[in-house]
Amino acid sequence: MSAKILAALGLNATESGTYLGRGQWAGTNDAGTITPVNPATGEVIATVQASSAADYETIVQRAQEAFAIWRTTPAPRRGEAVRLCGEALRKHKDALGSLVALEMGKIKPEGDGEVQEMIDIADFAVGQSRMLYGNTMHSERPGHRMYEQWHPVGLVGIISAFNFPVAVWSWNAFLAAICGDICIWKPSPKTPLSAIATMKICNEALKEGGFPDIFFLFNDAGNELAQTFVDDKRIPLISFTGSTKVGRMVGERVAKRMGRSLLELGGNNAIILDKSADLKLAIPAIVFGAVGTAGQRCTTTRRLFVHASLHDAVVDTLVKAYGQVEQKIGDPTLSTTLMGPLNSPEAVQGFLSAIERAKAAGGTVRTGGKALTDRKGNFVLPTIITGLRNGDDVVQTETFAPILYVMPFDTLDEAIAEQNAVPQGLSSSIFTQDLKAAEQYLSAAGSDCGIANVNIGTSGAEIGGAFGGEKETGGGRESGSDAWKVYMRRQTNTINYSDSLPLAQGIKFEF
Ligand code: NAD
Repeated sequence: MSAKILAALGLNATESGTYLGRGQWAGTNDAGTITPVNPATGEVIATVQASSAADYETIVQRAQEAFAIWRTTPAPRRGEAVRLCGEALRKHKDALGSLVALEMGKIKPEGDGEVQEMIDIADFAVGQSRMLYGNTMHSERPGHRMYEQWHPVGLVGIISAFNFPVAVWSWNAFLAAICGDICIWKPSPKTPLSAIATMKICNEALKEGGFPDIFFLFNDAGNELAQTFVDDKRIPLISFTGSTKVGRMVGERVAKRMGRSLLELGGNNAIILDKSADLKLAIPAIVFGAVGTAGQRCTTTRRLFVHASLHDAVVDTLVKAYGQVEQKIGDPTLSTTLMGPLNSPEAVQGFLSAIERAKAAGGTVRTGGKALTDRKGNFVLPTIITGLRNGDDVVQTETFAPILYVMPFDTLDEAIAEQNAVPQGLSSSIFTQDLKAAEQYLSAAGSDCGIANVNIGTSGAEIGGAFGGEKETGGGRESGSDAWKVYMRRQTNTINYSDSLPLAQGIKFEF
């Protein structure tokens, strides 16, 4: 199966992990190798040759040369380059979606959905390429004009997480490209093949369209090159997606060199079911939010606050629904599967250890709570735990696995306060039919998250809105709305077309 999926994308059992530009993939074999593993079987899928320090230098130098040309290429023309990438991804959607499922472990429709997100952001970026608007201002001085314009920032470094191995790159790269930047990507060592395939698809499309190199790739066998990347003053913006632990370090290091960072870090997302909630909508949203991608989305629903009057019935209904999902745990590349494996054996250990901590804190496992040891791969049962308090350590922590903590509440004020009382601030939602409750939830005194929804779940955001979260989620915003601005530098321009030189604030300076 895996050979067929690789072959459909023109990949071999040994691949270079370094795109140097000018159509060259590095032949480096002294920088170590990376061996991505099929999380459903434990088998090595292929061997990827990691990048060397010399490869990295070549990439940065070529990226700088490319930027000198790209920054003055008209933005709508840059949009055409991204349009071609989107078209190429449309053609390869099925094959790339299968590779994402194989290497990351998410189910095939989610793998395809991830590629669809790439196509959607490409479309969005094409339109945005004609809308890099700046404001004009009225000057306080006669005969003067003021306006602002947006220029490309330069080289953009993209460090991505394993769980969205291709979409996160495109959210950044397609917008950065239309803004006039050159992107250098360091993907997760758990999903290098998805990155290599993406690079091949997009760079081939750019070449055929007569465009220069705008996307580069390196893969790091350890973290040494990644740290060089983070510290590199030639890269004014580092966009980092990953855990809060690593993101905090990246943010601090980039700040130390006065660079700009865009941080998309961990979440601890909650749904509130108020007493008027329509359970026909709420139950499927909770199950998809908590179990989808086997709980390995940054927006996964991890906490559920249920009005006390509904608590027991909702838990019973969820336990039944989880029973149905359990029947469909398996190979993520098969169309019948609803839940795939966790990505690594370490993630299974993290899951089991969270279950133990939850039990020790007084929690009751209502369903799940076990790894599936009757088969190969990193499979676990989706889990519901009751009886914990929001303040318990294990509830405050993002465990990247399908564990849902269900807690009762009496008043909406209390539920909102509890929802917000965690270090993270990514996604949140309320199920209610009460207009006042919905508006309170969305008000300045409501949810403190970057994403707050009504009557839909926490995961599955559309690309049209700005995506990201507050507090330890890092504060970054990617994708839609005006997220493009982070890839540009703002310049304020004042032009004097009069015959005098009046100073601002009426200052007189006569000599
Ligand atoms: P991770 O932090 O382990 O790794 C993320 C990336 O950082 C990888 O490419 C990794 O190789 C790199 N890295 C590791 N050490 C580094 C170092 N010292 N210097 C520079 N780079 C280094 O995260 P992960 O396990 O791949 O992903 C899961 C995490 O990502 C979860 O916490 C999840 O919530 C988060 N995530 C957040 C978003 C979001 O948009 N907020 C999206 C996806 C994933």
